[in-house]
Amino acid sequence: MDGSYPTDPDEYFTQVAAGLDGLADVPDAVLFEVVTRDGACMLLHRLDLEPEWTGDDLTDRELAARICAGCPVRRECLELELRTSGEETLGVWGALPAEDVRALYPVWRSRRRRRGGHIGDGPGVAGGGQR
Ligand code: SF4
Repeated sequence: MDGSYPTDPDEYFTQVAAGLDGLADVPDAVLFEVVTRDGACMLLHRLDLEPEWTGDDLTDRELAARICAGCPVRRECLELELRTSGEETLGVWGALPAEDVRALYPVWRSRRRRRGGHIGDGPGVAGGGQR
């Protein structure tokens, strides 16, 4: 994710959803532990180094690319947010702005139902992210 909008959204979201297939059998609690332990934004927060996100002219898409660049748990973060908030997501998760996570959600859910694996229980509390 480089801050630009995908030229073919259907293809893009299908590819992103496919990239999460390997996490289908990982329990929510494990994802939560990994994201809260290793998420780049979580580390900044723990070290009290979190920058002031508000007041910036960045769009959510650019902000997502900047915040999450280099985060080692982007896939886990996105998977967890899809399971816990789905279409009700807000903010930035797994290097995607909420607009993209909401667009991804039906693609991911449909794929997951076909292939099997966790889909979560709906809106709840997730780990990292910038809301
Ligand atoms: S929002 Fe998720 S992917 Fe982005 S830095 Fe935080 S934990 Fe990592």
